[in-house]
Amino acid sequence: LNPIYAALPTTIFEKMSAIARETGAINLGQGFPDAPGPEDIRRAAADALIERSNQYPPMLGIPELRQAIAAHYGEHHGLALDWRTEVVVTSGATEAIAGAILSLVAPGDEVVLIQPLYDAYLPMVRRAGAVPKLVRLEPPDWTIDPAALDAAISERTRLIILNNPANPTGRMVDRATLEMIAERCVRHDIVALCDEVWEHIVFDGGHVPLIALPGMRDRTVKIGSAGKIFALTGWKVGWMVAGETLARQVAKAHQFLTFTTPPNLQWAAAQGLAKPKAWFEEMRAGFARSRDRLVAGLETAGYAVLPSQATWFVSVDLTASGIALDDVAAADRLAMEGGVVTIPVSAFFEEAPVTNILRLCYCKEDAVLDEAIARLARMR
Ligand code: GLN
Repeated sequence: LNPIYAALPTTIFEKMSAIARETGAINLGQGFPDAPGPEDIRRAAADALIERSNQYPPMLGIPELRQAIAAHYGEHHGLALDWRTEVVVTSGATEAIAGAILSLVAPGDEVVLIQPLYDAYLPMVRRAGAVPKLVRLEPPDWTIDPAALDAAISERTRLIILNNPANPTGRMVDRATLEMIAERCVRHDIVALCDEVWEHIVFDGGHVPLIALPGMRDRTVKIGSAGKIFALTGWKVGWMVAGETLARQVAKAHQFLTFTTPPNLQWAAAQGLAKPKAWFEEMRAGFARSRDRLVAGLETAGYAVLPSQATWFVSVDLTASGIALDDVAAADRLAMEGGVVTIPVSAFFEEAPVTNILRLCYCKEDAVLDEAIARLARMR
């Protein structure tokens, strides 16, 4: 047995969702909406399943989706991408992340990771034989300190993994910090792996992709997700875009991880990406309403909520809420006695965890949020 995997616990998302399934608690843990998702996109997938090919699509993805991704990023971010050579469709963003890590680092290379970190990154970095170097952020602002980043970089640094907007914090990296990171990448010849799956679920101004910054066009792998953009998390349709050299390299890993992704889902994702900008604004406005509803309810119930600028998540500061339990104990109590499942944010730390914050997923029907708020209010 590979010791890296033998030592790994089951992910916190599966663990907490299992508690919700077993106890019937409201699940504000794992990030997924309870709405069925855009009907026209689901209909396009269903139609394509009957009317279009169900054989192996091209390894890099069907042309229609690669074209749609390139056009979408042109329209939304001003990026000029060659769909033939710079876009690779993957089976979810997680596969794109795995493929990038496996193909871009060699044993002994160092990889800079930002804590709190999405839990998939570190095991893949270790399995690739690379050495993780962690930069730890502090609540409530979770800002990246240039000195801490510099301390994590050495001449062996090959890759930095940046999740922006960030899960679990819901924070966006501001432009000055992106420029600071880009300057380090250029100066030290580092490739940036940018997990930007939350790029459309942003509430405080537009998302700025690191790949758009000076010097980053050919040293950034930008990862996106149809599951997140269209609130269809089970689809597992993701992609990576990068300059040709990096894209070709990641495609080498992709060809032996999954090789390809169901063509009908690719087709439907392409239809979705072509939607007008107003559609994305409306989608954002709907999520903003749900976020505001949960935040207002939590605050009325006496919980201290940290500001969330993006993602499907908000955070409760237990200490500031006057709750003396650590996050794991609080999450257990809320789930078992309160009937609401949350995620303890210490699960996103490898070392020196922040232990007083819970992550709550707000993308639920109003009635579900209201019932969760009522239950949480009874636990005060
Ligand atoms: N991205 C999801 C979340 O943060 C989890 C995905 C998963 O469970 N693999 O909740």
